[in-house]
Amino acid sequence: MPQSILIIEDEESLARFLELELSHEGYAIRKCFDGREGLDEALNTDYDLILLDIMLPSLNGLEVLRRLRREKHTPVILLTARDAVMDKVTGLDTGADDYITKPFAIEELLARIRVSLRRQGSHPENDVLVVGPVRLDPLRHTVTVHGAEVSLTSREFQLLEHMMENVDIVLTRETLLSSVWGYDYLGETNVVDVYIRYLRQKIDEAHHVKTLHTVRGVGYVMKAEEPYV
Ligand code: CA
Repeated sequence: MPQSILIIEDEESLARFLELELSHEGYAIRKCFDGREGLDEALNTDYDLILLDIMLPSLNGLEVLRRLRREKHTPVILLTARDAVMDKVTGLDTGADDYITKPFAIEELLARIRVSLRRQGSHPENDVLVVGPVRLDPLRHTVTVHGAEVSLTSREFQLLEHMMENVDIVLTRETLLSSVWGYDYLGETNVVDVYIRYLRQKIDEAHHVKTLHTVRGVGYVMKAEEPYV
């Protein structure tokens, strides 16, 4: 059974483009062009994931989400307009799992879809995350490398947790900033580099492993890898 995705997007050319790309990736797709129709469809059929535009005719995306959440926990990725910070915050408060800002690269959307589906499928919240020798327990708030406990500050812990949830996905500084530091963070993006350096010292260098990788000109990715030789 292919995983099913419901697209609720009134911009028909974008909806068709998404349908084409996502079908090509093997997902079963259904499209709705307005909020009310989308909500009915989302309530009546069990989808694995919903892509939900915010500006929609008849019922806006946030209202669709609010009503959907009274009954269902289907993962939702919001499609938001650039700079609509309030929408993103409200959306996440209302129970969206993630959002992506238009215009977006299809590869980024595909990566976020995989993360949402994986999160829903194989490790629900509070499950222990494991990447190679690194093990993170969100409930007990502990991190070990090859069984040895690592002491992290809460920001380091959040950054590591986010990178482990997105294992094998390259994350830009901007993505990490907004996910870990918050949407209204006004400082420099190099705060990310500084914290990656802290994590590298405490995890990779202290334990002779290599899990935190730099992708030059793009950002960072966490991967399970063999030890340094
Ligand atoms: Ca729209």
